[in-house]
Amino acid sequence: MNRSKYMILGGGMVAGYAAKGLVEGGLKSGELTILSADNALPYERPPLSKSFLAGKDDEKSIRINAEEFYGEHGIEVRLDCHVARIDARQKTAHLQSGENLSFENLIVATGAQPRTLSIPGSNLSEIYYLRSMEDSKKIRTRARNAKRGAVVGGGFISMEVSAVLAQGGIETTMLMREDRIWKRFFTPAMSKFFESYYSARGVRLIKETNLTQLNGERAVKSVSLEGGQAVECDMLVAGIGVSPVTEPVANSGMQLADGILVNEYLETNVPGIHAAGDVASYQDALFGKRRRVEHWDNAVSQGQHCARALLGDRAAFLHVPYFFSDVFDLSYEFWGDPANADQTVERGDLSTSSFSVWWLRNKRVIAAFVMSRPDEERDAAAKWIESKQQISAEKLKGKSSVLDAEEPAS
Ligand code: NAP
Repeated sequence: MNRSKYMILGGGMVAGYAAKGLVEGGLKSGELTILSADNALPYERPPLSKSFLAGKDDEKSIRINAEEFYGEHGIEVRLDCHVARIDARQKTAHLQSGENLSFENLIVATGAQPRTLSIPGSNLSEIYYLRSMEDSKKIRTRARNAKRGAVVGGGFISMEVSAVLAQGGIETTMLMREDRIWKRFFTPAMSKFFESYYSARGVRLIKETNLTQLNGERAVKSVSLEGGQAVECDMLVAGIGVSPVTEPVANSGMQLADGILVNEYLETNVPGIHAAGDVASYQDALFGKRRRVEHWDNAVSQGQHCARALLGDRAAFLHVPYFFSDVFDLSYEFWGDPANADQTVERGDLSTSSFSVWWLRNKRVIAAFVMSRPDEERDAAAKWIESKQQISAEKLKGKSSVLDAEEPAS
């Protein structure tokens, strides 16, 4: 049986960055095998709902490593490769094709899959979900001739895809069940800013709504909402969250609970097996809580971290959660975790696109949102969260440099 020193289950961002890290750490030819259910070499996922979707990036420009990289370093990448199950004790991957491959060390990076609609009409055509490059290509192609788009959800995909569709001249309606946009992360004032920004750019927002049915003969033509309202559309994109992909490791002996449980070293309970990225529920030593993070930065950082661990550098994964987004002509960043904040502080002007918002707990910043602000605010955000810097909320509110808010610990 074919045996690899290192195997990565999942060909997404973790795989791309772990492969890069292993090569930089001295990987030898023939030591690494990547098993990918995708049909493309590892690529960056953020552009799929932004520049790639808008046609400004192509397959080559979003690859994490150039096509030649894998051959040059003797890395075997098996695309369209479906793993039926992992036998953790025997250290073997059983492929759906019947082939078995064994490994010494494994990184499980199976990612997540989109939740799908399950109302009448959900099987009509022109209903899209966005996860892979293939999905993004399909939406992009359809959008070229679409006139009316409905986008379901009030989170990342919905915000980013709605912006791209609207910019492409499509009459776009966002349908969300929350009473305000992106309630999970935004304060009411932030939701208000973004709602006005979207409305001013032609996006119609229907809030506090639930879909009851999708109508059409073959392709979706309209969406029925609770209360009887109908929204016409010739394409629909649903961004209603994802669930971690754990099927290949079910009954493998690995502990599962909302993903794969790993400790602060990203190790599963099975020696020699790590998990990383969207599928990994890890013990966050910085915030003292367990979390599973579905963001680009997490996949990149955990991929790099696992590569170092496989090469013998065992360390806790201490990392401030981070994400960024681009919508219309706005770019913003978010650090930390706002849950359990006891105060929020705003800087800048929330009626313009230049402001930052700071979530505090016990005089420490635990999360920050920064959009079009001086670099010192970006720099302070991650640094303060990580170092648990004590700060003065009063001074942070002021107009002077953000650094003036630093206080000696009391
Ligand atoms: P998301 O950000 O979790 O948002 C899901 C949205 O769908 C929420 O508004 C949720 O409302 C709503 N929802 C859930 N079930 C629903 C249902 N049955 N009917 C109607 N609405 C429903 O997930 P996403 O936007 O689908 O994004 C998918 C993944 O891609 C996420 O992991 C995300 O992190 C990642 N992504 C990240 C970025 C970025 O970092 N910039 C960009 C794109 C995608 P409730 O809150 O009420 O549940």
